[in-house]
Amino acid sequence: MRFPRFFLCMLLGTCVAGNATLANAQSRQDIRLVLQITVDGLRADLLNRYQASFGKDGFQYLLRQGTVYTNAQYQHANTETIVGHTTLATGAFPSQHGMIGNVWFDREAGELAYNIEDADAPLLPTRKQSSTGEQVDPAQKLARTQGRSPAVILVPTLGDGLAAYYGGRSKIFAVSGKDRSAVAMAGQTGKAFWFSTDNGDFITSRWYYDAYPEWASRWNGQRKAEEYAGTEWARSSDKSTYLLAGQDDRPYEADLKGYGRTFPHRFGEAGSKLLYTQLIVSPVGDLLELDFSKALISNEQLGQDVVPDYLSISFSSVDATNHFFGPSSLENEEVIRQLDRTLADLFKFIDKTVGLEHTLIVLSADHGMADMPEYMTELGYVAGRLVPEEIVAAANQAGQQFGVDEVVRFFFRPYLYLNDEKIAAAKLDQLEVEQAIANALTDFDGINLAVATSRLSEQGTDPLLDQVRNNQHTTRSGDIYIIQEPYWFLFDEGPIASMHGSPWRYDTHVPIIISGPDIDAQTIHRLVHPVDVAPTIAALLGMTPPAAASGTLLKEALK
Ligand SMILES: [Zn+2]
Repeated sequence: MRFPRFFLCMLLGTCVAGNATLANAQSRQDIRLVLQITVDGLRADLLNRYQASFGKDGFQYLLRQGTVYTNAQYQHANTETIVGHTTLATGAFPSQHGMIGNVWFDREAGELAYNIEDADAPLLPTRKQSSTGEQVDPAQKLARTQGRSPAVILVPTLGDGLAAYYGGRSKIFAVSGKDRSAVAMAGQTGKAFWFSTDNGDFITSRWYYDAYPEWASRWNGQRKAEEYAGTEWARSSDKSTYLLAGQDDRPYEADLKGYGRTFPHRFGEAGSKLLYTQLIVSPVGDLLELDFSKALISNEQLGQDVVPDYLSISFSSVDATNHFFGPSSLENEEVIRQLDRTLADLFKFIDKTVGLEHTLIVLSADHGMADMPEYMTELGYVAGRLVPEEIVAAANQAGQQFGVDEVVRFFFRPYLYLNDEKIAAAKLDQLEVEQAIANALTDFDGINLAVATSRLSEQGTDPLLDQVRNNQHTTRSGDIYIIQEPYWFLFDEGPIASMHGSPWRYDTHVPIIISGPDIDAQTIHRLVHPVDVAPTIAALLGMTPPAAASGTLLKEALK
């Protein structure tokens, strides 16, 4: 159920707001802006690996000023973008917020659903001919509709909490290179903008606006993405200064249709279908996000009074670069070096417009990243790729012992969905069939554990099972959760090289850094979790945690 904004403000009594309540509303440390930065795919150890090359005003500013958690681990199994972002935003597990994967099988419709697709919230067009690009994002490619909204996210976010606490007077925005990373963080009450790989604009949907704010139209009208057409992404420093100088040209890196595996990477000409995707697979995506965010901060006047505003910026270029070249590539080192400068630029701008002394900055990531199995094999690991068709064939073969042909209805990593109708028609016990197939798949080379999800509650306290439990939603999750062995991938070689999504530490380990007024500079090594982030920000603002938050307070950040 949706209420038009006018009725919402009538309900909340905020259509005409006086200043009388402002003094009471002031947060304890006079925080005027909460800046939540998420670096998509930034495995925590990458910051350590490159720290010596960082300047003093980007990552180092946060590492020097903030409370730094070195051992933050996601507790869900399917470490994907929408899952991690929504967990950061809500402080809840996917079992409660419902975002169990970038895609899941819609049992009723009999087809895959893309997480935030919503036919009732069509994109708001920015120009007449708005689609020139080719969709490369493997998850977005599966969307059935162009509409986007947070309607499927089942619980409120921190931003939603701010909206309620300040009677609708907090300004709440989210920007990202990816639709899902903006929509998850904006929640139901904020406004989301994301980069369009169709046309290089920052776009939104009718969930948020009926027409673009004038400043956003003006920014899009400048066509800044196209300034990069026909140029190239080159190294910014001498090759000898890079730790991974020798890891530029590796046969298992992916070549994005002529973008190449080695520096310099050439961007397509204006009008080429892949130009905007190439920009995301380079530091330019983050630079454009920065530029758009600056326009947003200035024009929406964020952080200008004592009612705290909220801005989420999720930088997408590290993840996109990882997917094509891997997290141990020269491209990865270069994209993070540039992100360091992008952050320095952002902090300088925030200091000028809001004041860093009034800004709470929280940096984390939505998941880590795995190196490609081919690279790991080179290093001596036993690793490989599982072909989905072979998993399905093995499951179907296991189903034959019950006399059921093609017992698998659908498989999309990590979930296998069984054909309930066939199982019921054969008068079989669903749980027994599920368990038998899970057992057979667990024996499959490259699979560590296949879990019959209907039986999760009866199965002990194995840490992997806990992660699968935290990922389990009654209607969206599948019947069997497939966990690969470490460094194995659940997909074959194809357009992208590298992946995340496993429950293993290289995918769950992310940074959490909290910096702002009255927050101590310190490094904390105890085990903490991204579900702790939203309740901790809420506590710093003196608010109740978001409704479904399960995390505990990161007490070192609270005085
Ligand atoms: Zn990714």
